[in-house]
Amino acid sequence: MEERGETSREVCQELEARLANDLEFSSGRIIGSMCTLPHELGRKVYFRYLEKNLGDPGLLPATAQLEREVIEVMGTLLSNPKAVGNIVTGGTEANVIALDSVRNRESAAAGSTMHREIIAPASVHCSFDKAARLLGLELTKVPLTESFQVDIEAVEHAINADTLALVGVAGTTSLGIVDPIDKLSQLAVENDLRLHVDAAFGGFVLPFLRDLGHKPPEFDFKVPGVSTITIDPHKMGLAPIPAGGILFRDSDLQRPIEHRIPYLAGGETRQSTLVGTRSGGSVLAVWALLRHLGREGYRNIVQRCMTLTHKLADRIRQVDGVDLMVQPVTNILGIKSDVIQVRRIAQELRERGWAVSLFPRHIRIVVMPHISAEHIESFLNDLEVVVKKLG
Ligand code: PLP
Repeated sequence: MEERGETSREVCQELEARLANDLEFSSGRIIGSMCTLPHELGRKVYFRYLEKNLGDPGLLPATAQLEREVIEVMGTLLSNPKAVGNIVTGGTEANVIALDSVRNRESAAAGSTMHREIIAPASVHCSFDKAARLLGLELTKVPLTESFQVDIEAVEHAINADTLALVGVAGTTSLGIVDPIDKLSQLAVENDLRLHVDAAFGGFVLPFLRDLGHKPPEFDFKVPGVSTITIDPHKMGLAPIPAGGILFRDSDLQRPIEHRIPYLAGGETRQSTLVGTRSGGSVLAVWALLRHLGREGYRNIVQRCMTLTHKLADRIRQVDGVDLMVQPVTNILGIKSDVIQVRRIAQELRERGWAVSLFPRHIRIVVMPHISAEHIESFLNDLEVVVKKLG
């Protein structure tokens, strides 16, 4: 740190210059990310209420009330207006909280031996590895079927006396696939296990796909065995980062992770999030967007993303040398090749300025709201050139 500070103008100028090479969503070049340009209203509300700390809700009773309203609206979207929960830092925190609530339930049960195993699909996000490590749990990953859904027979086979909970994904990180949550629910109910659904991505896509006449698998609280759901406003909810969401079917499920915090300026409170200090601005931005966009607004956004996804999928099928991993269910699409290493295709695309996402067997494209038809066209042109060059 220098002894004398620079003027704010000088600092901002330097920042502009230093950040000139960072990619921005508006360029359309970020075509492999689950985040997007936050909605203008979300940005405005976030900046306006930047000082609010929901870690001390006694100071902010009105903001705390609006968070409850956000949870009610998101709960209603997921077929349970009575759901409780919080806006958190992201899907990772939400998944850690979900597994923590399960663990504490079992360890609190008087006289019960400590169950430690979580059974999840191989497609599960790496936040579950982090959660298992932090919480001292065993994460058992079971294989997928040819359609990239979790293999239900393998889950059934894996359940044992040490099993604590099952996880299903509604919108997998790699391909946007939805697991058969109803079948996982049956297994959870039969074996008295909790079922957590990671809909970090799909939560703001699948309900609107249903409105649009698509038939994605049921994944929300309508399915009886589902106890918790992760749903992230900072992905397809168009909210500014950070805004993840964790919903519990009812307050009994959330209670085991509540912490009493007696010393706060706003008076004693109970916290169920991992972090203490947390952004009230994020919560209010989500509240504003849910109000402003409404079901129709989100449905239109999803419709536009899906139209572009299908257009991209049709065109990729016509490019010799590459193919789709699977017909996309959501606005995520996987490009594979039997003749060229996908790593080499990804490298060439990156050299041409495309921020694609690379998985072991495919390149992932996420058609987020900042992607336009022109961006798709330009990407396809480059893809054709690259495949021809490497083929
Ligand atoms: N769950 C799924 C399915 C995801 O795809 C991701 C991130 O991509 C996460 C959880 C983690 O979310 P975050 O990066 O907001 O912590």
